[in-house]
Amino acid sequence: MNIETVKCLIIGGGPAGYTAAIYASRANLNPVLYEGNMPGGQLTLTTEVDNYPGYPDGVSGIDMMNDMKRQALRFGADIRSGYLAEADLSARPFLLTTGDGDAIRAETVIIATGATAKYLGLPSEEKYKGLGVSACATCDGFFHRKKDVAVVGGGDTACEDASYLAAMCRKVYLIVRRNELRASKAMQHRVKRADNIEILWERQVSEVLGDENGVTGLRLIDKTGSEMTIDVHGLFVAVGHHPNTEIFKPCIKTDEAGYIVTKGKTTETNVAGVFAAGDVADPRYRQGITAAASGCMAAKDAELFLLGK
Ligand code: NDP
Repeated sequence: MNIETVKCLIIGGGPAGYTAAIYASRANLNPVLYEGNMPGGQLTLTTEVDNYPGYPDGVSGIDMMNDMKRQALRFGADIRSGYLAEADLSARPFLLTTGDGDAIRAETVIIATGATAKYLGLPSEEKYKGLGVSACATCDGFFHRKKDVAVVGGGDTACEDASYLAAMCRKVYLIVRRNELRASKAMQHRVKRADNIEILWERQVSEVLGDENGVTGLRLIDKTGSEMTIDVHGLFVAVGHHPNTEIFKPCIKTDEAGYIVTKGKTTETNVAGVFAAGDVADPRYRQGITAAASGCMAAKDAELFLLGK
C-alpha cells in the first residue's frame, strides 16, 4: 500500500485548524488539513460574530470561516474534505487513517477537532430529532416562522439562540434549570429586553411531546416535582458541548470531561509531536479568537519541534 507522508497533519476545519494551516504553510511545513464533518466548525452555526477583533461592523460566521480558509489556501495549505477515522499516535511518524480508508504518516499532528453540541439524553428528544428537536437555531429556526418554540439552556448559546428565534417566531420560551443565567450580561440583557421571550426559571424538560408531524409540546418539571406542559412547534437544545477527542483517547491525555490536556502555556500534549488547539483543549474560554490564537501557537510549536528545539 502506498502511504502518504506529511510533515504536519492538521485535523479540523475551524478557526484553530485554519489558523494553524496559515502559520504552518508560511513556515514551509506543507500542512495537510482535513476539515472534518463540519467545515468551518461551530462558527458556521452562528449568525453574526460581533466580538472578533478586526470586524468593527460584525461578520457572518460563515464568511469569516471562508476568509480564514482562503487565507490558508493562499499560502499553499492542502485543505481536504473528509475526516480521520483512526489515529495510532503510539510511535512517530504517527499513522492515521481517513474515513475513506487512506493511510497517512505524519511527523507532527495538530488536533483541532473542536467540540459538538450536547443533548439532554431523553428518549423522546431522540425520537423527534430532525422533527422539531434541533441543536442549531440558525440552521432550523426558519422552519418555525411565526410559531412558538422553546430553547433549553442558560448560557450564551441559549440566549443567542433565543434572540435569533425571537426575530422570526411568535414566542420563545427559554427554559433554565437554575434561577440565574450563566450567559454574559450583554446577552442576558438582550434576552430580557425582548417582548416575545419568556424565561421559565428552575424548570427542566422531562418529555418532548409530539405526533406524526413532529413536536407539539414539552412537559416540564420543577424542583418540587410539579409538572406543566407548554405547546411548542420546536425545541432548540443549547446545553453546552463535548470535545471531539474519541479517536485520540488511547494515547492522548484528556481531563474528566474529555478535553485534551496541554502543557503549561504551550499546545503540547503528553505525546511529543502531537499538539492540540482550539475548543478541543479549552473548556474555559471557547471563543473563536482564542481558538485561532491557539492554532497559531500549535503551528509554531510543531515548527520548533521539527527543528529539534
Ligand atoms: P455553557 O456551558 O456556557 O452553558 C450551558 C448551559 O446549559 C448552562 O446554563 C447549563 O446550566 C445548561 N445545561 C447544561 N446541561 C443541562 C441540562 N441537562 N438541562 C438543562 N440545562 C442544562 O455552553 P454554551 O454553549 O452556552 O457556551 C459555551 C461557550 O461559548 C461559553 O464560554 C460561551 O460564553 C461561549 N459562547 C459565546 C458566544 C458569544 O460570545 N457570541 C455565543 C455562544 C457561546 P447551568 O448554568 O445550571 O450549568
